[in-house]
Amino acid sequence: MSRIKYIQKLLESKEISCVELTKKYLSKIEEENKAINAYVNVTKEDALKAAETVDEKINKGEKLQPLEGIPMSLKDNISTKDIETTCCSKMLKDYIPIYDATVWDILKKQNSILLGKTNMDEFAMGSSCETSYFGATLNPHNKQHVAGGSSGGAAASVAGGMAAFGLGTDTGGSIRQPASFCGVVGFKPTYGTVSRYGVVAYASSLDQVGPITASVEDAAIVYDSISLYDKKDSTSLGSKFTTHDKLDKSIKGIKIGVVKEFFEGIQDDIRKPVEESIKIYEELGAEIVYIDMPLLKVFLPVYYITSSAEAASNMGRYDGIRYGYRTDSYNNISEMICKTRSEAFGKEVKRRIMLGNYVLSSECYEAYYKKAQNLRGAIIRDFKRIFEKCDVILTPTAPTTAYTLGEASKDPIKTYLMDICTVPANIAGLPAISVPCGLDSNKMPVGMQLMGNNFEDYKVLNIAYQYEKNTKNQTDGITLWQEVEI
Ligand code: GLN
Repeated sequence: MSRIKYIQKLLESKEISCVELTKKYLSKIEEENKAINAYVNVTKEDALKAAETVDEKINKGEKLQPLEGIPMSLKDNISTKDIETTCCSKMLKDYIPIYDATVWDILKKQNSILLGKTNMDEFAMGSSCETSYFGATLNPHNKQHVAGGSSGGAAASVAGGMAAFGLGTDTGGSIRQPASFCGVVGFKPTYGTVSRYGVVAYASSLDQVGPITASVEDAAIVYDSISLYDKKDSTSLGSKFTTHDKLDKSIKGIKIGVVKEFFEGIQDDIRKPVEESIKIYEELGAEIVYIDMPLLKVFLPVYYITSSAEAASNMGRYDGIRYGYRTDSYNNISEMICKTRSEAFGKEVKRRIMLGNYVLSSECYEAYYKKAQNLRGAIIRDFKRIFEKCDVILTPTAPTTAYTLGEASKDPIKTYLMDICTVPANIAGLPAISVPCGLDSNKMPVGMQLMGNNFEDYKVLNIAYQYEKNTKNQTDGITLWQEVEI
């Protein structure tokens, strides 16, 4: 069931006013957030002011726009005018943008209710939300476990009933993996369909904004609102098709691609629910086709070389001169820059900058960066071949469920390896969604991923929706969404 539609129905029928609704969400945040740490900044006054505007419209009998009056959250790397945008880094602590990111501009114009900014791995580098300068986000299903990352705060805000939906960003899985860890839906759209203007860059050729929601239908509703062409983003294309109106289409005869390697070496209690979802698709009339992916072994090196190289270049703007943190004492400019960066970047960000500069250095450029770009081209071509044989590819979203706090920092390389299922969609710019499909033996959520061809976001959402609709009983227990009582 769409949480967004449900809320709007209550607002339009005046069963609850938008101010009352917003207050309920705010008190839920007050109760839960101390423990979960999903929000790093709660924008109470702005939220209530926006809610008043919505109530005025309702009282005048005006029709609401699709996301009007819906309480939501934004990841803290999405610029919000006059509201701190920190990327959860000491470097940008207290930084207040003077303009809005396009995605927020769109939602603001719709009078969506911004409840606050959500926690994330520092500059979106990480998979557990533990590299945040403001401390980790905990998983609402079990507070001993991480929420995933980097958009861990966004996923926990939705899973914990502290927002009806959230916007996150996904460079190598940062929307889908936390969504799967928290038992909610996370959708990474086709690269270029959602504007990146005003979204703090990590790896510009891979970054994409997308929704984290309680249902597939909600993901489609949010995506349709935010996927507009934006002349301020040179890679913006906008979407060719709307999606929410195609969810009901029958999926009889569609072809679902399965790659055996994605199912190897993962725990039984993760593999089983995902394999179960394949059976459900067969029952719904889909045909399963087995796909070979010869380039699978280069996905991770291509991703980590490309993303670190772009990160090293993007992080160059933090020099203590233009904005953000500056060290207290220094004798000359190079010492100032060096001390500023040493003091204000966390360990993981420094590791990526070093790795990125290494692969871009004149001695290594050919062997690493250039090779990675050539392979990226080959991967993109290979996906073209694959999508001639199937409509979507089904995989687990991640080889693990939410692990316990502290585990990721013990072995960072091991956590890089866990991105194997999510990075291909970013390398090739493809749309991909994570949908809850079961629980593991510790009762932690398991996510199934569907990846589609470029600009076939509507197809990915349609196929995901049909699964969700036909497995209501299985998935209902996974999504916590102990909704604020209305
Ligand atoms: N875990 C991946 C990384 O650290 C993906 C992060 C992301 O998508 N922002 O690069």
